Amino acid sequence: MSDEVVAEQGAGRTVELVRYVADVAVPCDVPGRVLRPGVVEVVDGIVRHVGSEASVGGPPGPAAPTVRTVRVPGALLPGLVNVHCHSPMTLFRGSGENLPLHQWLNHVLWPREAQLDPADVFWGMTLAASELLCFGVTTTCEAYFFEDALADAVVAAGSRAVVTPGVLQLPGHPSGEEWWDRRTAEIVDFHHRRHGDAGRIEVGFAPHAAYTVPLPVLVDIASEARRLDALFHIHLAETEEECARFSAEHGGSTPAVLANAGVFDGRVLAAHSIWLSDDDLDVYRSYDVAVAHCPQSNAKLASGVARLVDLLAAGIRVGLGTDGPASNNDLDLWEDMRLAAMLARIRERDAAALPAATALDLATRAAGLSIGRPDLGVLAPGSQADMIAVRLDDPAFVPILDDAQLIEHLVWSASSRLVTDVWVNGMPVVEAGRCLTVDDERARHEVQVRAERLMRAAE
Ligand SMILES: [Zn+2]
Repeated sequence: MSDEVVAEQGAGRTVELVRYVADVAVPCDVPGRVLRPGVVEVVDGIVRHVGSEASVGGPPGPAAPTVRTVRVPGALLPGLVNVHCHSPMTLFRGSGENLPLHQWLNHVLWPREAQLDPADVFWGMTLAASELLCFGVTTTCEAYFFEDALADAVVAAGSRAVVTPGVLQLPGHPSGEEWWDRRTAEIVDFHHRRHGDAGRIEVGFAPHAAYTVPLPVLVDIASEARRLDALFHIHLAETEEECARFSAEHGGSTPAVLANAGVFDGRVLAAHSIWLSDDDLDVYRSYDVAVAHCPQSNAKLASGVARLVDLLAAGIRVGLGTDGPASNNDLDLWEDMRLAAMLARIRERDAAALPAATALDLATRAAGLSIGRPDLGVLAPGSQADMIAVRLDDPAFVPILDDAQLIEHLVWSASSRLVTDVWVNGMPVVEAGRCLTVDDERARHEVQVRAERLMRAAE
């Protein structure tokens, strides 16, 4: 990466136009589009222009008197968007392996989570932020507790998050009907205080699931989310067992019952959404419910394979998520991108199902759209300058015979290890593969010590 100031006028003006000139730009605005070479111009953390090298070169204009050129040897892409995550669960990575979801939740995870304090969540999120940024993931949609500590860690690490505080009664914690109201009010207050913080925090709501949160509470939370135009983020139809139990109790499928109760009337993101009937797909489509598809978590916990091709054919918005690092076990969205394509092909028995350009789309532009953020996961005028550089001087990118093949290589043979530099809001956060904003050694130590305490406390 080399910086050079090529023009400077108007002393005293602070506005600067940064012109990134990359060997290759993959803006992800249209699946498969490649610019060789490509230029992305950024002013004040926002992309102002994307095009071929020939599309720029004139004077910067009065609004941006200074032009700084950054040469990017490699491919410049938008930052990846991970739409379903519980990042502070780095504290529980590798805990309770080989258990099905509900045993793992009840016997391992929830007893430990009941012992958490805000500093645990801060350090769990801090370690995760470094991992995510180095993998080129610049935005995560987070569902977790101690949301202030989580947001503090995101702001400090220079990453971006949709923070959707979790609503779930943990073992040994206060419960009862008033608790649900109190927790909902806490999240409304959190929204007032932190929504828009540092230009990088968006606030939503995350009631855990329809089998852990009573229906009237889901209705209340959905109505508060709607009032604030906030994202309502929920685990839905993750296991066959949970769906069967819910149907037996409520006399209808989870999507049908929630839709009838008014839960789907606002901005809804339904994580997993594996066990859906054709009627359920109709419900998703008519209520514009988006899906956070988490193929690696679903595979590891043997929950099932979502109907990805059917979801996309129905016009349902879908983005990719890693889920928490205790069920994945890392935060590498590149793996989910590849696995999503593989599982879709196995499910359809069709080698042409889910092309590479679509897989990349699910981790970028479509992921942004799934959380209602057209300004994320794309490099286009008006989008956030969240960008990643991927090195091309690697066997993964040899040979490149045409533009389509470059996209194929990004999905099928490249990986997160080739991400060299990352910017969020136009600010550098990873350089030469190292996170600039997090003290990794300290974060690893804090998470190690805290994980040991949480394990002992839950015994
Ligand atoms: Zn989850």
